[in-house]
Amino acid sequence: MKVLVAGAGLGGLCLAHGLLRAGVDVRVHEREDGPDSRYQGFRIALNGHGLAALNACLPERLHALLAAVSGPMAGERRAVDHLLGEVRSLGRADEGTAADRYVLRRLLLAGLGDRVEFGKPVVGYTERADGTVEAHFGDGGSAVGDLLVGADGVGSAVRRQLLPGAEVVTLPGHAVLGRTPLTERFAALVPGFGTVVHGPGASMLLGRMEFRRPPRLAAAELAPDVRLPDTGDYLRWVVMPTDDLPAGPRPWAAVRGDLLALLDGWHPDLVDLVRAADVVNSSPLTVRYAEPVPHWGGSRRVTLLGDAIHVMPPSGGQGANTALRDAALLARSLTAVQRGEAELPAAVERYEQRMLEYGFAAVAESLERLPDFTPARR
Ligand SMILES: Cc1cc2nc3c(=O)[nH]c(=O)nc-3n(C[C@H](O)[C@H](O)[C@H](O)COP(=O)(O)OP(=O)(O)OC[C@H]3O[C@@H](n4cnc5c(N)ncnc54)[C@H](O)[C@@H]3O)c2cc1C
Repeated sequence: MKVLVAGAGLGGLCLAHGLLRAGVDVRVHEREDGPDSRYQGFRIALNGHGLAALNACLPERLHALLAAVSGPMAGERRAVDHLLGEVRSLGRADEGTAADRYVLRRLLLAGLGDRVEFGKPVVGYTERADGTVEAHFGDGGSAVGDLLVGADGVGSAVRRQLLPGAEVVTLPGHAVLGRTPLTERFAALVPGFGTVVHGPGASMLLGRMEFRRPPRLAAAELAPDVRLPDTGDYLRWVVMPTDDLPAGPRPWAAVRGDLLALLDGWHPDLVDLVRAADVVNSSPLTVRYAEPVPHWGGSRRVTLLGDAIHVMPPSGGQGANTALRDAALLARSLTAVQRGEAELPAAVERYEQRMLEYGFAAVAESLERLPDFTPARR
């Protein structure tokens, strides 16, 4: 069996590992020119589903490295006002593991070699009479497989063709995502699992990324063939909503200037946090979610996972976890096919039925939690 995956994001790469473990021939086609062409080093809170999926799919030799380059996330989630006065506790959260998306993606590329092809945007597909599927690339080339998995994120070209009626909603206003190197002063802003600042007209979400071990050193010791970036601890922050700021791509200096004007009168630690942000890892952020779709009928040779089907706001901390859960579930279903224990169309349909159920439940939960972070929307 040969599986084509569109998109080398967290979900697509996790799936590729799971399939390789089962001896399935898998190829991943990624739109970007290389793993570093767009720096996306924001923190992701991994929950039990995400961690279990990663450990189920990654080869065992990488498990210790995964643990070494993730970070602790435990304790109180608290809400404070813009002068850092305590407002209320949002409860304890003890089970989280913090991971950096960029480090995680580099780790997920380990061992996949030329099975991942960069600079290959999938622009569409053709289902062929012999039951196979042909994926078409932006450069005019194509590849044929038994199944095409659209793991190509929120703007998925595969979803647009498979489910042209599926709707992705953009929330009004946008957010600004930033990252600032961790110092003792900034660390004090997040004594526990996370802090939400409810200020006049905007909220700020703060979370720490403290690697248990520096990623590059940990890789050199635990898996010398894996190259991880030389990245330090940081504080991740998101300001939302920022309806007054112009949307669209702009130089960071302009975005930061507007943001500092918006935070006028806020506690100096919060203002300086924005001032000291790392330019490469800070940018405006559009928040989107997918409207639920019913199952589209079985026996097609094309399916979807992750943000490509059920994108959700980051308020629930579930987008990546659900994409990884999809990857592990689909890998398990396809492993049964590879072993001759199931038929491909039925196995894919079973995956889709379950994925749609928990995936859109996660979208709904994330939407429900949005007001916790954006009091201006109440
Ligand atoms: C600020 C922020 C914080 C977040 N925090 C959390 C969190 O704490 N916990 C959590 O679970 N989730 C979190 N998320 C959500 C999480 O990042 C996403 O849900 C997750 O990355 C989705 O994974 P994916 O593999 O489906 O898609 P992606 O990671 O988006 O990967 C899609 C890949 O497909 C590629 N691609 C796109 N189009 C094509 C094409 N036509 N052909 C080929 N390749 C293509 C893209 O370049 C990309 O590499 C957060 C998101 C943001 C923005």
